[in-house]
Amino acid sequence: MIQLQDISKHYPVGFGKNEILKNINLDIREGEFVSIMGPSGSGKSTLLHILGLLEEPSSGKYLFQGERVDSMNEKKRTQLHRGAIGFVFQAYHLIDELTVYENIETPLLYKNVPASERKSKVADILDRFNMVAKKDLFPSQLSGGQQQLVGIARALVAEPKVILADEPTGNLHSDQAKVIMELFSQLNKQDKITIVQVTHSDVNATYGNRIIQIQDGIIQ
Ligand code: ADP
Ligand code: MG
Repeated sequence: MIQLQDISKHYPVGFGKNEILKNINLDIREGEFVSIMGPSGSGKSTLLHILGLLEEPSSGKYLFQGERVDSMNEKKRTQLHRGAIGFVFQAYHLIDELTVYENIETPLLYKNVPASERKSKVADILDRFNMVAKKDLFPSQLSGGQQQLVGIARALVAEPKVILADEPTGNLHSDQAKVIMELFSQLNKQDKITIVQVTHSDVNATYGNRIIQIQDGIIQ
């Protein structure tokens, strides 16, 4: 599903170069549930952002389903970015001014999905997540756990092949975290969605099938 070959990333700092990721080689197969772990500042988010096309690597190759991402045309890249890959953030990143319903609908608007289809897709997800009664509430009226459910619903509505989640339970209590992790497990096993999560939690890592340790930008 995903292949990284010799990926490096640096940010220009002063006159030198600040290497954040160093010669990363990584294969993630379809159907895997991978946990990326490592100390703060080790490059976990940077790696996930590269996988999610939120950042460009400085060098190396990224192949998605065998195709080089950097040689895809703009349309294909956008399809990948807005469709095949769903991103879930630690701080949810919902749009405060939009309702639960509207937040979940957003990716479908970007994809120009017709109104009737949008309606049925959002309704299906609200139903599956038991959030029908909350559809007209705003993010500030929800608990953290409920906000993260909306974040996952928003990623899911575009029918991704892969979900990338950056410390998805980092702001949650352990009971809420369990709900989120069981949902990821169901999405992986039942919906066959490949999942890559960044986590500091050994408990969260037990939901996955593989752990990748990263330290100082190097996979251990
Ligand atoms: P982690 O998620 O493992 O905590 P990050 O990937 O967020 O680590 O960051 C790795 C390193 O890259 C840190 O030292 C961080 O300060 C640095 N970094 C992250 N983003 C930028 C940026 N946009 N510009 C410069 N340095 C950055
Ligand atoms: Mg991080």
